Amino acid sequence: MNPLLEVLRVNGAAWVRSQRDALRGRALPLPRSIRPKLDRYFAEPVLEAVRVSETPEIANPTFYAQLGWIPLDFRDMEGISFDNVILLKSVPRTEPQLASLLFHELVHVVQYSILGIDAFMDAYVLGWAAAGCDYFRIPLEMNAYELQGRFGRGEALFSVEAGVKEYLQAHAQIPASQER
Ligand SMILES: [Zn+2]
Repeated sequence: MNPLLEVLRVNGAAWVRSQRDALRGRALPLPRSIRPKLDRYFAEPVLEAVRVSETPEIANPTFYAQLGWIPLDFRDMEGISFDNVILLKSVPRTEPQLASLLFHELVHVVQYSILGIDAFMDAYVLGWAAAGCDYFRIPLEMNAYELQGRFGRGEALFSVEAGVKEYLQAHAQIPASQER
């Protein structure tokens, strides 16, 4: 594997675990006002176990300092999931906006639960590289945006777990990293 991608996937997985463990203690259950909107799209144990924390700005991982550049700038992002702990940038949102953002992040939580942290990070990093470093073409993001879109359009109730499994099967061949 390309040495840069190796650094990203190994350090990325360690970052996810350390952030999850650091945030979990002070993170809260899903907001009571939002939870009913997400019911049945997600399995009960997923909604029960997830925790949500807020921060003024999502910080980039410290290992970026050793890279000398910023592969994906998390400071621009509104939310991120570390396994089953979601971290949101604390900005004013309407309830539908918050529900939509949490829906997107919960798709990642389901992806983590199916793949495990290491395989999630492999798929994320290799998918990012294969997509020409385009965040919006990372397969795990495309899956999340597609399901979030269906939720936002008010399509008939569907199972996110089924939607993730279907997508992962259709994209079972995680594209090999391209040397550049
Ligand atoms: Zn996402």
